[in-house]
Amino acid sequence: MHFDPRSLDRPAGMFVGGMLTDASGDAFVISCPSDPDLKLPVRMATRDDMDRAVETCRAALKSSGWGRMGPRPRAEILNRWADLVDAHAGEIAALEALASSRPYTEVMTRDVKIVSLALRMFSAYADTHESVVTATPSSQFSYTRDEPYGVVAAISPWNFPIILSAWKFAPALAAGNGVVLKPSEFTPFGVLRIAALAREAGLPDGLFNVVLGDGQVGQTLVRHPGVDYVTFTGSSRTGALIMADAAQHGLKPVSLELGGKGPQVVFDDASDLDKIADLVARGVTYNSGQACFSGSRLIVQSGVKDALLDKIAARMAQVRAGATWEADVTLPPVINEAQLNRMAGIVDASVAEGGKLVMGGHVMDGRQRHFEPTILDGIGADNIAFREEIFGPVLSVDTFTTFDEAIAKANHPDYGLTASVWTRDIDAALSASQRIESGTVWINHWGRAMDMTSPFGGVKRSGIGKDMGRQGYGKYLKSKAVWVEIGEPAA
Ligand code: NAD
Repeated sequence: MHFDPRSLDRPAGMFVGGMLTDASGDAFVISCPSDPDLKLPVRMATRDDMDRAVETCRAALKSSGWGRMGPRPRAEILNRWADLVDAHAGEIAALEALASSRPYTEVMTRDVKIVSLALRMFSAYADTHESVVTATPSSQFSYTRDEPYGVVAAISPWNFPIILSAWKFAPALAAGNGVVLKPSEFTPFGVLRIAALAREAGLPDGLFNVVLGDGQVGQTLVRHPGVDYVTFTGSSRTGALIMADAAQHGLKPVSLELGGKGPQVVFDDASDLDKIADLVARGVTYNSGQACFSGSRLIVQSGVKDALLDKIAARMAQVRAGATWEADVTLPPVINEAQLNRMAGIVDASVAEGGKLVMGGHVMDGRQRHFEPTILDGIGADNIAFREEIFGPVLSVDTFTTFDEAIAKANHPDYGLTASVWTRDIDAALSASQRIESGTVWINHWGRAMDMTSPFGGVKRSGIGKDMGRQGYGKYLKSKAVWVEIGEPAA
């Protein structure tokens, strides 16, 4: 066991004005995913608390001159913060693993490093950001000036809590904004620990604030008149509500990272079935399938189907279910009872609609919060397992014979976040990458690297805008055109 979940000292309020402080709203009781008997109460923010957070942020922007100073002094502070995050990796990992589905070891080796890397990388982007001098007659001089929005409201989900929060607060701060972050009500602890380190790093008090609460609190934040920009990661349903709210309450710009239903398209000539099976199995069981970039739809050419499916099933059967604080866990718990029941319900409905259960399909015995790795075969576009984002370790399988059929099946009517194409034919691979409607296409691969140079975001109901890469930085700046009329010099 990496830590004792019952003896952890955990923050339970909010972080406003550079301090962990009590919120004054109702208690929200989190039931620990790895041990549902362990109850973890936190206090939600009230409307007054939200006013305080937003006003504090705005006042800090003004008094610190954060948005007006050059990017290098900002980078120095954010880099110090990154060092502190690395130095406190153990504490952060324990707090993250307590309420989420993230295994302690993985948070230590991956999630925490992604947070510190985000702080460093976006600082570097800020330091190398350039504006444009536009083409004008010689009697004029015109350039664009990119300026921070002001107060950014960031709302994040429970599945990768510290990573998905950092993808937002790091670039927003690096670009000169202040941030009020509302993490998911289910997973606040790791983010609160990271926030407390900001003060030690020298971030001016009030520039980064964290408020806790449910969707209602999120809605209050989006609608708040003191918020200038809204950045959200979560479900497509909530994304649509946020876009409508942001439009009606100040016409605020939004960026939305939403759900996915990623295809894994495997052609008969794909080279290494073992490697494909490894990554398809990992792609659907990683974080117990609670990942927007999960490769949850296998679309396989008939010649290779049986051999590949056997290999995938063998790997999916080998996962090790356990608590997030145990060693070697590869199937962590499902976040809550509602999600577990939802997975079971969709699998049952899929079978009732004609889907063939190849393996799994049930809540695991004796382990309240684990769902069996599951394969459903014969899943066409009319089956619920195709239509819905299941967000569990469930792989749906469909076959194709021609290239056009593969593309038609890969293109989901609603989602377009990530896709993988497996083939040795470079023409087929590149042509598929052009015709698949998706924010990311991996060729002979599945999964993101740790670095953040490549932007990430979806099309259709998978989102608007990008996180990461230069686009994930530039979206936190608004562009102003400046014109200078050049007069005749005095003789
Ligand atoms: P969710 O939409 O239920 O909640 C996300 C966040 O929004 C939470 O903090 C929640 O409290 C808040 N919220 C809920 N209703 C709100 C409202 N009306 N106004 C403002 N805020 C509100 O999503 P979830 O269940 O936490 O996360 C799972 C979903 O997130 C999945 O659909 C998954 O695919 C998606 N996701 C997408 C990405 C991506 O980068 N595209 C990454 C991770 C997760």
